[in-house]
Amino acid sequence: MQSAQTLPILAYHSIDEFGTSISVSPEVFRRQMQWFAAHGWKTLALSDAASRVRAGRPVESRSFVLTFDDGMQSLLTHAAPVLAEHGFCAATFVVTGLVGRPPEWYRMPDPYRTIPLLDRAGLEKLADLGWELHPHTHDHPVLAHLPFEVQADQIGRSQSLIQEWFGQRGGVLAYPFGQFNADTMRAMEQCGLVAGVTLAFGSRLDPAHPYAWPRVGSAWLKGSNLRQRLAVTGWLERYVALRSLVKKGRERHFQQPTAETTRGLVPLGG
Ligand SMILES: [Zn+2]
Repeated sequence: MQSAQTLPILAYHSIDEFGTSISVSPEVFRRQMQWFAAHGWKTLALSDAASRVRAGRPVESRSFVLTFDDGMQSLLTHAAPVLAEHGFCAATFVVTGLVGRPPEWYRMPDPYRTIPLLDRAGLEKLADLGWELHPHTHDHPVLAHLPFEVQADQIGRSQSLIQEWFGQRGGVLAYPFGQFNADTMRAMEQCGLVAGVTLAFGSRLDPAHPYAWPRVGSAWLKGSNLRQRLAVTGWLERYVALRSLVKKGRERHFQQPTAETTRGLVPLGG
């Protein structure tokens, strides 16, 4: 049995000045990347990370993975130049049925709904710069709401178009809206995908559950350098887990006792 490793997979969407929940401003993004470079962190390609963790081969400390969901235009204009300065590599998850078209699924105000995602030529440019392209399904549906056959088609089609268009294997899936179920994982296995990344917060990657790897969302990196350091070294994750444990304990403690809750219940602090 291989053991879990700490490897932060950062999850960004767009690098822009719109100030939405999925935006990171170019200035903040530049500072974040500078911090990693200045502290000796190095990027690991997503496909490399997936095969290493799955095989139980240790990743070097201070390794991290950069991912960007949806293949937005700002990757070319604002992310790629900064990454090139530091020699960092990255991956983006492509919605193959919507390349060059606006992300109609965005339930948020303009301007996102009107700005087209990168088209094939734009994605090709990223690939030429060394970016990895991985599937994000064909139409960006909530996979868990769909029957198995439709899920398999969404995943398989996205992966084979990436292969056909860019000659890349696209072995890692990012779940639209971070949602998946047992059928999703069965479909991924059938398509030969090696890993799946969620929107859950964390950096412990368990080789026994490669289709449920958490990531460090960009919101966790906003703020001070200290917060960024805590987020990528796993300390913030431990703190969040501890806090939710304490909260659960408190809720349990203040519940009206019933036969169900008192059976085998250890009293909490009297
Ligand atoms: Zn998405």
